[in-house]
Amino acid sequence: MQLPLRSTLVAGLALCSAALAPAKTLIHAGALIDGRSDTVRHTVTVTVEGDRIAAITDGYTAPAAGDTVVDLRNATVLPGLMDMHVHLTGEQSPTSYSEQFFLNPADFALRSTVYAKRTLLAGFTTVRDLGASDNLNNSLRDAIAKGWVVGPRIFSTGKALATTGGHGDPTNGVNDALKGDPGPKDGVLNGPDDARKAVRQRYKDGADLIKVTGTGGVLSLAKNGLNPQLTEEEFRAIVTTAHDYGMKVAVHAHGDEGMKRAVRAGVDSIEHGTYMSDETIALMKEHGTYFVPTLSAGRFVLEKAKIDGYFPAVVRPKAAMIGPLMAATFQRAYQAGVKIAFGTDEGVAPHGENAKEFAFMVEAGMPPMKAIQSATLEGARLIGVEQDLGTVEPGKIADLVAVPGDPLANIKLMEKVSFVMKAGTVYKP
Ligand SMILES: [Zn+2]
Repeated sequence: MQLPLRSTLVAGLALCSAALAPAKTLIHAGALIDGRSDTVRHTVTVTVEGDRIAAITDGYTAPAAGDTVVDLRNATVLPGLMDMHVHLTGEQSPTSYSEQFFLNPADFALRSTVYAKRTLLAGFTTVRDLGASDNLNNSLRDAIAKGWVVGPRIFSTGKALATTGGHGDPTNGVNDALKGDPGPKDGVLNGPDDARKAVRQRYKDGADLIKVTGTGGVLSLAKNGLNPQLTEEEFRAIVTTAHDYGMKVAVHAHGDEGMKRAVRAGVDSIEHGTYMSDETIALMKEHGTYFVPTLSAGRFVLEKAKIDGYFPAVVRPKAAMIGPLMAATFQRAYQAGVKIAFGTDEGVAPHGENAKEFAFMVEAGMPPMKAIQSATLEGARLIGVEQDLGTVEPGKIADLVAVPGDPLANIKLMEKVSFVMKAGTVYKP
């Protein structure tokens, strides 16, 4: 008895959907910055069907029956923003060095869902998470992709790679009983064979790309923030193996020698880049290496280094020294024509404040439109997803955000994102 009834129902539904065009979302945009063009379009309709952008047309298109209209006539619509350097599983504070002794991986994982949501609601629909313990960034990526958790689309490194005692060695500064001898599985390598094994382990763990701490760093419990920490041979082993597996390589570097070795070995991006020399700038242009400046992190650590007790004693002088140099380096690299992709190192500064980076970039001499493109099309290019993301163009995934007014006249408006759509779903109406 039931079977014929159900068949009729299904046939009826099929007829219905064939007769009616699928429902669309029509976004009436007062202004549109598409991520590619240097000019702004005014009074346009962006039509979204499912998770993709179907069309962009002049004027405000009237909705057909069943269509939804989003009124952004007083706003500027932009592509979903992309931050190339975040750490969603942590956030710097005076207690962040000790929390690993009090919190479990599950605690870090649950807390990261809060940071992920803040990041998305700030307009960042795509991020690269460049390092977490216990591969929590891989798990967070999957949880968001499955719809369990609200957050940005994540491209994840799993645990970052380092050499023994290097910036990303997870056991720096602890007592001998806890120090152990971490190896490639834990992200610590010494020599090209270890390097290959460490990369292959990341592939096995489900990482999308590789992160290497190529020089000392500010926040690790180690005294040198600049020294080169891998040989060029180790970098080459990492790069050739990662590229074999279709993974890009992002390198944390403050000191110039470590940067040079990394660039010559063919890495895809240099993160921070504080002491970048003119010679390295020329090498990066020659190799097409991206620079991810993370000015937000420089500002944050400089400010906190002024507060007694905020950082451990070994960290404080590094923070005071490195913080103020980053903007000047960024200015030189931009003016020389190095490819720049937007990145904050959020998790140093608070999650959700990613867009402050725009004003820092503009202050350092980048035109507002270029700063916006660094966080849209250039980010997509660095990840290698420019066919799907990074611009507002027909056929692209519908990642769209809006800010009130004109961000080219006032770049601080990028901090006031009022609308967020990721893959056709509205998260901030
Ligand atoms: Zn970082």
